[in-house]
Amino acid sequence: MKRPRILLIALNDPDNFTYSLSLGYIQSYMQKHKKITDSSDVRIINFNIREKGIEFMLHEIIAEKPDVIGFSCYTWNISTVLLICEAVKKDLADLLIILGGPEVSELSSEYLKLSDNIDIIVRGEGEATFVEILSRYINENMQLERILGISYRINGKIYHNEKRPLLDLNEIPSPYLNGIIDPAEISPAGYIEFCRGCKFSCDYCYEGNRFDYQRYFSLERVKAELQYMKKHNIKTVAIIDATMNSDTNKFRNVCKMMSEINLQNKINISVELKAELLEDQMFDYMKSSGISMAGIGLQSSDNISNENIGRYFDRQKFEKGISILNKAKIKPYIDLICGLPGDNFFKFIATYKFAINIRPYAILFFNLNILQGTRLNQNKDRFALVYNNEPPYEVISNYSFPAEEVNLAKIISKTLKMEYNTRMS
Ligand code: SF4
Repeated sequence: MKRPRILLIALNDPDNFTYSLSLGYIQSYMQKHKKITDSSDVRIINFNIREKGIEFMLHEIIAEKPDVIGFSCYTWNISTVLLICEAVKKDLADLLIILGGPEVSELSSEYLKLSDNIDIIVRGEGEATFVEILSRYINENMQLERILGISYRINGKIYHNEKRPLLDLNEIPSPYLNGIIDPAEISPAGYIEFCRGCKFSCDYCYEGNRFDYQRYFSLERVKAELQYMKKHNIKTVAIIDATMNSDTNKFRNVCKMMSEINLQNKINISVELKAELLEDQMFDYMKSSGISMAGIGLQSSDNISNENIGRYFDRQKFEKGISILNKAKIKPYIDLICGLPGDNFFKFIATYKFAINIRPYAILFFNLNILQGTRLNQNKDRFALVYNNEPPYEVISNYSFPAEEVNLAKIISKTLKMEYNTRMS
């Protein structure tokens, strides 16, 4: 067998990510398997989906003459991924195409039925599963039926293997510390992960249902990655955990560590926090941690809407959390969602009013997406959810929020965002 060429491809939308940490993890995990690294060539390609047209991407991919391609799939790139799969399969008939990522994980049957060009879908996190596929590919011993966590098609029939047990995150070497991610690629922000999973489980969100429990990278590992960012003069780092303060003790320890390595004024750190979990005693260690910006999900201040989406919201604790952040000079960015079941135009405006009264640094508006595999999607009949069938599955109306009100709220939210955020900056 010739030396296989393996491409890991990310089509990044700069509004979300500018490079793929998840593909970095996969290549990094591969390095623990000498047989793969010794007998194949592996390359990650990060494309900016806004900048590069499909022709450009295709040309780059085909020029590499890959034997295996792995794509990382999200709602924002899946349609382009499918077009690329179709085109490359025409040129490279023996190519093995593997898809992974949140968009295909829960929809493996649907995507395998939709496109004959997809050979394997990795469900759940990809590190161990992808490496096992490659290892078997290199050893010419595919036996797909033995690989946990995949779905695939043989002779037109689709198979779903058992799910793979979760990895201890510390088994994945850091792609920063072992040189897989080039510091030159880290722009404008570096991404660091401390925890996977979320202890909450809001019904519209993947994150709370994606893993059976929360897992953490070691504090030493996160410290070493932050020091790496500092050494390479990266000015902004996003800690991409779903809710960084969901475990108060761990949050305190990571803040203390960040204070000790003196990140303040050197790196701007952004995090996602649950406002209701912030308490007065956290003020001292947060203010010297280097955290300069916190994304806070409010979504709706309406009790019925929060109940409908299984979301914990406590008005007083929320207000208190924002005031603690303001006092610690950490800029709160509050997210609101338009189109929630239980909301309507007036409740949406009431949420906005509640948000401006607590003086966050910025208010951001998002449309409700009815993601496949979420509990909200399973409840679509109960809430009479009407939504677009194409990714990102944007809501059109629901039992309480008629389509014309949803449209009006979307239009007005653009003005409100500009109005409030310009005044605050
Ligand atoms: S919306 Fe936020 S708090 Fe809720 S499950 Fe998702 S990540 Fe967790």
